[in-house]
Amino acid sequence: MTLLLQSVTDLDGRLVDVRLDGALVAEVAPVLPVTPADDVLDLAGCWLLPAPAEPHAHLDKALTSHRAPNRTGDLAGAIEAIRTIAADFTHEDLVERATRAAYEYLAAGTTAIRTHADVGTHAGTRHVRALLQVREALAGLIDVQVVALASAPWSPGEAEAGAVLLRAAIELGVDVVGGAPHMWPDRAAGLELSWTAAVRAGLPLDLHTDETLDPTAQGLLQLALRVQATGFDAGVTASHCVSLGVHELQVARGTAAEVARAGIGVVALPQTNLYLQGRDVPVAPPRGLTAVSALRAAGATVAAGGDNLRDPFNPMGRADPCEAASLMVTSGHLSSRDAWLAVSAAARRCMGLPVPRVVAGSVAEFVALRAESLDAAVAGAATERTVVSRGRLVASTRVVRELPGVAGAPRA
Ligand SMILES: [Zn+2]
Repeated sequence: MTLLLQSVTDLDGRLVDVRLDGALVAEVAPVLPVTPADDVLDLAGCWLLPAPAEPHAHLDKALTSHRAPNRTGDLAGAIEAIRTIAADFTHEDLVERATRAAYEYLAAGTTAIRTHADVGTHAGTRHVRALLQVREALAGLIDVQVVALASAPWSPGEAEAGAVLLRAAIELGVDVVGGAPHMWPDRAAGLELSWTAAVRAGLPLDLHTDETLDPTAQGLLQLALRVQATGFDAGVTASHCVSLGVHELQVARGTAAEVARAGIGVVALPQTNLYLQGRDVPVAPPRGLTAVSALRAAGATVAAGGDNLRDPFNPMGRADPCEAASLMVTSGHLSSRDAWLAVSAAARRCMGLPVPRVVAGSVAEFVALRAESLDAAVAGAATERTVVSRGRLVASTRVVRELPGVAGAPRA
């Protein structure tokens, strides 16, 4: 069977019919005649957008904010909170929460998720094993990539044990090597551990980078120069990059140019960083966002994601890419179109995935949002949505809203 999507508006404002055959777009035209092989979805009034990908999730921590409140509200408080409760994360608990969160993402339109999994003395390889099971269970529905997130050590003994655990996590079959060098007492040692592991394994690298308002942090620049010097070509993503947003403009522009030259994808995570950063700045607090304009002007790939989902790092979140996209409009000053491309096309590029387009031959990964405008769609004003992955319908959300006290109010 083929799937015929009728009367959709694409990102360029074209009103078209789209026929999907298997996992690909087969035909696009203003009107396509229905054939006996077609399943037909009438999507008149809907925008058909490239399906978002979540380039930076933490499914192992998801949905735990009520278990461990973040007492200080900052990054250090979140890490302390998660370490406090991680001992109680059983395999079943990890799998159940991660799966539930993944379904929330899927219902909102996200058909690919890169999730970090804590690796360290507080977690062993337990989180990795659980998320690998989730990856296998969801295969064919959601592309899940698991990143072994080497935790920063709290003591020299932890560093040694952490290196052993990272090797074990890689042997279990993770997709990406991660880390957070800026959290290490010795930042160079933190980078070295993850870098060496990625090179040895031939895996992409995705590092939490300079998630700090320290204006002297240069982890992103050091990473970019190292990628250029070594020719590392398995793919490098730098997430957060908050400090770049408080650097002097010329310094930020210089780093952005090196990031672009190195081909590093940068993932901005506005919701979590607006929550965690700037708590010690009572007046005119910084936004905790990377230097979006400088990076884009330099030609770097800038994606956006949701990061933590209702956990001590971010007690909010709807697993909805419209949240990250609309925050990129509000706080990153992107257009609605560019914001959507940040959570879809750019996110997929960071993950090494093909980018869906409404043209024949494209991968068939789309979300249809019922909205009067692209602004309304990106704002998340459209709760009603239809999700297509690998050419088939995988999620559909309908809403009935009634205002019985309002004469003549529209039903939506
Ligand atoms: Zn993260």
